[in-house]
Amino acid sequence: MERIISGKPREEDAALDNNLRPRRLADYIGQDKVKENIKIAIAAAQSRGEPLDHILIYGPPGLGKTTLAHIIAAEKSSSIRITSGPAVERPGDLAAIITSLQEGDVLFIDEIHRLSRVVEEVLYPAMEDFALDIVIGKGPGAKNLRLHLPRFTLIGATTRYAMLTPPLRDRFGSIYRLDFYDRPAMESIVARSAGILKVEAHQGGIREIACRARGTPRVANRLLKRVRDYAQVKAAGVITKEVSIEALTKLEVDRIGLDEVDHKVLRTIIEKFDGGPVGLETIAASISEEADTIMDVYEPYLLQLGFLERTPRGRMATRLAHEHLGMKYNKSRQTPQGQLL
Ligand code: ADP
Repeated sequence: MERIISGKPREEDAALDNNLRPRRLADYIGQDKVKENIKIAIAAAQSRGEPLDHILIYGPPGLGKTTLAHIIAAEKSSSIRITSGPAVERPGDLAAIITSLQEGDVLFIDEIHRLSRVVEEVLYPAMEDFALDIVIGKGPGAKNLRLHLPRFTLIGATTRYAMLTPPLRDRFGSIYRLDFYDRPAMESIVARSAGILKVEAHQGGIREIACRARGTPRVANRLLKRVRDYAQVKAAGVITKEVSIEALTKLEVDRIGLDEVDHKVLRTIIEKFDGGPVGLETIAASISEEADTIMDVYEPYLLQLGFLERTPRGRMATRLAHEHLGMKYNKSRQTPQGQLL
């Protein structure tokens, strides 16, 4: 089940995402180091008259990978073609896409870790030499033909850097990791979105939404929309601190952005498995969630908060997690670093 705090896109986001998506680098809030590097890379490529190096962007869902790809294309006045790992099923599908690109175009492949191996192999020469190798005929009479492609820039996005094969990883000229946004950046994002949606929001109301949005812009926008609806019905349309708190409490998002599933994950580790270590699959089975969802949506934020720790033997709940849930931390079994004694 998709939850309100999930960074993965939901149907309700489509119109909203489009409306609120920053179009230029100057409107893209936070991620300052990444923005600076991108600015330099674009300027350098343009002054050399060369295509921009292929770029890989990774990080949890909803942090702005797709947005950044659009912005890079806009900043270098290029067209962008969009596809995703699961959508490109056969090598021919990819060949059709890359042969239709124009010089300088951006090709964006979302969830690039999900490309199949055979499709990936088409990408290697395309990325490295701007070439497409085709085999004509079969058996001993088969011939290799090399087609030259326009020089394009591939932008790949992934939530799972570790799942990328090394040969693919190596072919990206720059690799950027997006981090969860800090509080000031989240507040600016909520304020900017409130402005676009033309909803009156007090600083206290903005702050409450920003604190509970898990450092994730997509979640912030979604929560803002729900709070706006609540404010319209209950509070003459103004998002005050009180209105924010009431609305978000009704949505069962706690004051640091954890929802019922996060609580279930932590409680399961603590109550059923003695604080851990316990394998991800076991946790997933105990709470009837998919392991992938836990890994993409729940775990990164719990790790960031320092509530969970990954050890070679599985996940462990930390002292902070116990404290947040108001549960006793069993110090005799664990060191503060979560190692077993
Ligand atoms: P991802 O591709 O990483 O899943 P998106 O790029 O689709 O995430 O971002 C989701 C939404 O969050 C966008 O529609 C946009 O409105 C908002 N967003 C993302 N990054 C930023 C940012 N840096 N500043 C402002 N809004 C952002």
